[in-house]
Amino acid sequence: MPIQYNTIQVMRYLYILFAFLILSWSTPAQDYKKAREKMVTEQISKRGIKHAHTLDAMRKVERHLFVPPAYMRMAYDDGPMPIGYGQTISQPYIVAYMTEIIKPKSGDKILEIGTGSGYQAAILAEIVDKVYTIEIVSELANAASERLQKLGYDNVEVISGDGYYGLEEEAPFDAIVVTAASEHIPPSLTQQLKDGGKMVIPVGSPFLVQTLMLVEKKGGKISTSSLMPVRFVPFTRSRKE
Ligand code: SAH
Repeated sequence: MPIQYNTIQVMRYLYILFAFLILSWSTPAQDYKKAREKMVTEQISKRGIKHAHTLDAMRKVERHLFVPPAYMRMAYDDGPMPIGYGQTISQPYIVAYMTEIIKPKSGDKILEIGTGSGYQAAILAEIVDKVYTIEIVSELANAASERLQKLGYDNVEVISGDGYYGLEEEAPFDAIVVTAASEHIPPSLTQQLKDGGKMVIPVGSPFLVQTLMLVEKKGGKISTSSLMPVRFVPFTRSRKE
């Protein structure tokens, strides 16, 4: 009878569909966790990052929550990504490299210039006691502040403004991380480094390849060293300056 045949056929299709769903079932949260593990193994450890706190933080912070919804699925790819207003979230490896190089530890107070999405600030906040981060695009500063609060990062303070002069009232800092390319090292930032402190900053012409520099203060003396070629968005200045 045709009616019986249809019922059997429908049931068979339903069974196949159900089996397929069971076999392929995994939550997006699990997928993202796997993608994060893969990112740390293949993009970060493999390229020589060893600092345990950095690797732990990169494994923990949910990078996909720091990118626009359209880019979430690509959040763990090996590259920078647009975050709006012509700005970018840095490549995961660069975030890890800049974190490792300043040797962050519990108890530290860190200043970041260029909050962007707030991702680098979150990575640092997993390791140190307090992170101050300054962002010149007020919309990005507000969005990052909200995002970090929602994710429970009570130890991050986002400040909207030009980071060129640093944050005198909270200085000195154990480390300063600059995530926008500057033509020179802003003198106020060097002044606001603690003795024994480290600053990492991309220096060079905007829109060209820049050099990632490490600035160290020891016994009041400043030394600089070149680390690697990088490409960052420009360090801009507020119009009223
Ligand atoms: N660290 C960010 C990515 C930074 S992109 C992240 O993890 O997502 C660089 C950021 O620096 C941009 O958002 C840009 O608006 C900001 N910026 C550029 N010049 C600045 C300045 N003078 N002071 C503060 N922020 C600045």
